[in-house]
Amino acid sequence: MSERWIADRMHKIDASGIRKVFDLAATMKNPVNLSIGQPHFDTPEPIKKALEKAVEEGRNAYSQTQGIKPLLEKVQASIDTEYGHADRKVFITSGTSGGLMLTLSALLNPGDEVIVFDPYFVMYKHLTTLVGGVVRPISTYPDFRIPLDKVREAINERTKLIILNSPCNPTGHVASEEEVRGLAEIAREHDVALLSDEIYRSFCFDGSFISPARYHDQTIVIDGFSKSHSMTGWRIGWCHGPEPIMQQMIKLQQFTFVCAPHPVQWAACTAWDVDISDRVSDYRRKRDLLRAALADNFEISGAGGAFYMFPRAPWGTGTEFVKKAIENELLIIPGNVFSGQDSHFRISYAAPDETLQKGAEILNKLARLHA
Ligand code: PMP
Repeated sequence: MSERWIADRMHKIDASGIRKVFDLAATMKNPVNLSIGQPHFDTPEPIKKALEKAVEEGRNAYSQTQGIKPLLEKVQASIDTEYGHADRKVFITSGTSGGLMLTLSALLNPGDEVIVFDPYFVMYKHLTTLVGGVVRPISTYPDFRIPLDKVREAINERTKLIILNSPCNPTGHVASEEEVRGLAEIAREHDVALLSDEIYRSFCFDGSFISPARYHDQTIVIDGFSKSHSMTGWRIGWCHGPEPIMQQMIKLQQFTFVCAPHPVQWAACTAWDVDISDRVSDYRRKRDLLRAALADNFEISGAGGAFYMFPRAPWGTGTEFVKKAIENELLIIPGNVFSGQDSHFRISYAAPDETLQKGAEILNKLARLHA
């Protein structure tokens, strides 16, 4: 192999930040792990049974590209009830990531700008770059609220898309009605597309979830079963938005993902009706427990949803603090993996209480090192 085989675009994707963390983590003997971006409970039993049944019954071939009818009908009915938009159409994707990849591919021309809120979910940056777009980060520090005035300032003739992720990975910030409505209005006024990544919508602890689709009928929404139903390995999600855009995305799905995994789509019909409210309450309790345990030594904004906190490092950079944490057997992620700035770190509290308690003890001890 020679270097010229690798496309230039691959060199624009830099995974070294997170790789360094995992290289360090490999040296840990018995880590207290607060780095995991998925629920710590297993997939609910009825969903597992439904998958077994689907495989047994031979639902193992390709499905229609847009998804199986029973699942489409369930999701479409729910969305129609929620929004009542005449041309809002749903289709089934290979995870929320699949929906993201298809949205960016269908919307962006080379050089088109995408507004993301920093800190952001890393995939936004890399997939935008991959399809030739340019990320335009807008800082949300220190409180992680959406700064509407900065959004207005950032918009120019190249701006094609704004991505909102509420509840947010990594900050746990849940956007308020004022932020969501304001953003929807800006998108409409300036004729910029708006993508809402709603993968954590079930995990809102202090109020109800608000989608920008409520205020702007042209909003594109991506969502999935990964986090809500602990199905990260099953690769299934859905997308809804204006029908002409969905048609373009389905066309591309046909020649890329082909379809979401077929037996999993049958299991997803069961998942749609599984009540996960107990699990959400449990994560609310864990959030309260951890936030209280860290309150004396850490500045924590956001943390209204998902299962993440993004505290400011009490000394040094995020990376320096995380390095010290790893030396003390605690695995957390430095903020610069999600951000242009290196001042914070991400904790996932999707973990047993005992792990959270141990993690909080280590964090408090480290905070006092330079006090
Ligand atoms: N969006 C966000 C904000 C996420 O945190 C994740 C998963 N970490 C995804 C999308 C991708 O999820 P999926 O498993 O549905 O592809």
